[in-house]
Amino acid sequence: MRQVLRRVRKVGAAGVQALSRRILRAMLALRRQDMSEEELRRSALVFAPHQDDEVLGCGGVILRKRRLDAEVAVAFLTDGSGSHPDLMPAPEMRRLRQEEARAASDRLGVAKDRVLFLDFKDGELEKHLDAATVRAREVLRTFRPEQVFVPHHQDGPPDHLATTKAVLAALRVESIRATVYEYPVWMWCHWPWIGLPGGLRERLVNLRQSFRINRAFLKCRCSVPIGEVLPLKRAALHEHRSQVERLIPDPRWSVLGEVFEGQFLACFFQNREIFYRHDLEA
Ligand SMILES: [Zn+2]
Repeated sequence: MRQVLRRVRKVGAAGVQALSRRILRAMLALRRQDMSEEELRRSALVFAPHQDDEVLGCGGVILRKRRLDAEVAVAFLTDGSGSHPDLMPAPEMRRLRQEEARAASDRLGVAKDRVLFLDFKDGELEKHLDAATVRAREVLRTFRPEQVFVPHHQDGPPDHLATTKAVLAALRVESIRATVYEYPVWMWCHWPWIGLPGGLRERLVNLRQSFRINRAFLKCRCSVPIGEVLPLKRAALHEHRSQVERLIPDPRWSVLGEVFEGQFLACFFQNREIFYRHDLEA
């Protein structure tokens, strides 16, 4: 036991993190099943809470699908206006993020008339759940997709959870028997995918949450190899300039690449995207 402890100390926190990641990746690899080409050819509707979630969580699968000529549409639930609230007025940010989302969707190969903005106020989707469900029903009726992509139900941010709730409720009401694929975004912001944050209390909280989140990851058994489209996924994310570049010279303008020194962003550029797949009982 003493030897084990000595070894753990020697390897250090970074080593333990790297080892834990390797173990988790191996466990994921044992359980996962790649989406077949036939499934990739199926039509899909991606619901994104904010402009960038579609690229982060589903950019690779969208690119793979479009290469096979599958129908893909993207619907953004909120207007994204809450990003950097003290540094840019909300109407300007809303306009900018729409432009960025259009450019990113273009990079992903999604046709202009397949990009929809439902325009709920950023950060307040939960308050408008019923209205969001009505809008999601309209979109579902228009496209009648075979596959629906939503944020993972354990993803965390309230807009992400509200998106999933609204879309699942809409699918039930419309009796659309689509296969649902839940994609992780902020779930990646847990140990060992990122290092542990600063203070002891924060570390303990993150560590406790990480057990729950990693259990959820192990249920994400559907995967899509995206190695061949990674440069295109990067290019699409880069179109969300307000999220990846400091648009004004103010250190308060946070960017995705800074979150845990790039460890968070790196999670989206692994060789596979993973999804929690389920068939909704209509
Ligand atoms: Zn988001």
